[in-house]
Amino acid sequence: MNARTHEDTRPMVGVGRPLATEVATTSSGTRTPNPPPPAPAAARTESASKVYGSGQNSVRALDDVTVSFGAGRFTAIMGPSGSGKSTLMHCVAGLDSLSSGRVFVGEVELNRLSDRQLTVLRRTQLGFVFQAFNLIPTLNAEENITLPMTLAGKKPDRAWVDSVISTVGLADRLSHRPSELSGGQQQRVAVARALASRPRVIFADEPTGNLDSRSGSEILTFMRRAVDELGQTIVMVTHDPTAASYSDDVLFLTDGRIVDHLAQPTPQRVLDKMKSLGA
Ligand code: ADP
Ligand code: MG
Repeated sequence: MNARTHEDTRPMVGVGRPLATEVATTSSGTRTPNPPPPAPAAARTESASKVYGSGQNSVRALDDVTVSFGAGRFTAIMGPSGSGKSTLMHCVAGLDSLSSGRVFVGEVELNRLSDRQLTVLRRTQLGFVFQAFNLIPTLNAEENITLPMTLAGKKPDRAWVDSVISTVGLADRLSHRPSELSGGQQQRVAVARALASRPRVIFADEPTGNLDSRSGSEILTFMRRAVDELGQTIVMVTHDPTAASYSDDVLFLTDGRIVDHLAQPTPQRVLDKMKSLGA
């Protein structure tokens, strides 16, 4: 399966793009004919704002962010330290809540869910990859990969897990514990773990931040293949232009706002954009 077609030039990442439902409804409540079809979003926000603290010490970490992460796309989020990258990712992933605005995963609005429903949604529909690999040291690679499904009481889809493992090139390492694997291999296990339950979206926060450039490019190549061959949707925070160049679209954040966006990035174009934004 190849979910990424280069002929498909629709902008899947919309910056402040009005939503079809809003466009289609007039003040009198009647719907206009033939509204533009909404781009299929795996996850999206509407006017998302997040303020930490209160009064003089408050920090507006997200400021009215409307963004859509297209299904089967690989999106990179860039921006200076403190620009709100992690906050955006955490709020879209239901790990943190907005001060105002809305977040949807598929059709589900997160702040309509109970804590319990949110936990279930995170377990069944979302995958996470962090800078620290967060593997369980006493479990071998295969057990680490299937752990989230074991915890969720879900039976792994064996054929799918096997295809993930072969895509990630770990078949001969399955019985090894994390301490017997290189950093790059450990992160591959972590990415395979995120993929194994076929989540709707995988969120990766600086996944190559702790890796040498060769291991980093292995992980990025694997994430790219997961999008192209397995149809996965990935949202990745990075500050590395080379890492960002593996994505389909790059969003640039400054002071909690999306200030720019680049499609079909190359390292040089990302770098030029960062320079022009003063990052
Ligand atoms: P980035 O990931 O781009 O470095 P963050 O999203 O972590 O940025 O942070 C955005 C802003 O919000 C920063 O000013 C940061 O200090 C602040 N911030 C983040 N998390 C918290 C928190 N839990 N409490 C208070 N301020 C926070
Ligand atoms: Mg961060």
